[in-house]
Amino acid sequence: TSASLAHSDYLIFDDQLGETIARQNTLHIAMRKALEAQHFQLYFQPQLSLLKNNIIGAEVLLRWQLDGQWIQPAELIPLAERSGFILQLGDWILAQACIKAQHLVKLGYTELVTAVNISPKQFTAPNFVDKVVAALSDSGLPAHNLELEITEGVLFNNDYGTLDSLQKLRKMGVKLAIDDFGTGYSSLSYLKDFPIDKIKIDQSFVRNMHTDPADQSIVRTIVNLGKNLGITLIAEGVENQSQLDSLKSIGCDEIQGYWYSKPLEEDFFVDFLHQKQPLP
Ligand code: C2E
Ligand code: MG
Ligand code: MG
Ligand code: MG
Repeated sequence: TSASLAHSDYLIFDDQLGETIARQNTLHIAMRKALEAQHFQLYFQPQLSLLKNNIIGAEVLLRWQLDGQWIQPAELIPLAERSGFILQLGDWILAQACIKAQHLVKLGYTELVTAVNISPKQFTAPNFVDKVVAALSDSGLPAHNLELEITEGVLFNNDYGTLDSLQKLRKMGVKLAIDDFGTGYSSLSYLKDFPIDKIKIDQSFVRNMHTDPADQSIVRTIVNLGKNLGITLIAEGVENQSQLDSLKSIGCDEIQGYWYSKPLEEDFFVDFLHQKQPLP
């Protein structure tokens, strides 16, 4: 009967809710242990310049295996953000990313830019700029080899603290990119108010741009906007040649995505660099 169906639906829902909470608790405990045990890993996804046809940098992406299972950043990062653990985790990511980036510079890739994702809670913490200063000086990484990726939400607040931090970072020579551009609160005024070096066009617009004229128009508009403001454009999530061709015809500066390379373990990224861009 419908009554018993409704009843069992309710039970299933209740079970799932219980499972979700149990999983979150498990992950909260496990991620703290993993940080202590150095079980987190950083992968590198190459970024290609379409103008110069060379690798201009890489985005650092967090990877974590728990009991043989990959835990996706899309699950992990929001949990860590909610509990505040992102502050400790983010410190570790930033420090490690700078050490690894300095390793690449020392190998001879002196112009390579390493991009690190910074979550909103991390960026708006009062001592964030000091953390960046410390990560750079501890690793010896020149500031111009570091890029920070922040999302539109951080800029939307438009408060003095945010502007002040961005200006300090810019003055140091650290680069700033807006991640997932076009998916957040779409206020364009921040593009003129804040010192932004790069716009990362979100993969949701790139995905169907070779078949959907509306997506293609959006990407073209973002590219033109960036060009007019002197901001570099990179397209995220480029998976095939047709997307690449569209982006080239529109005049997008750079791309990142599976078409060129998946995120790679550090050693494989170094191999990839050597293969594509042998040192003199
Ligand atoms: P994001 O910063 O926009 O990173 C790009 C995501 O797209 C990555 O997912 C990457 O693996 C994926 N990707 C790259 N190329 C392609 C492609 O051609 N097709 C498709 N379908 N996907 C592609 P990932 O590594 O799962 O990370 C997801 C999100 O988690 C990131 O989005 C970022 O917001 C967050 N995240 C990852 N690592 C970190 C980190 O170290 N710190 C912080 N705060 N957030 C991180
Ligand atoms: Mg990113
Ligand atoms: Mg993104
Ligand atoms: Mg994203």
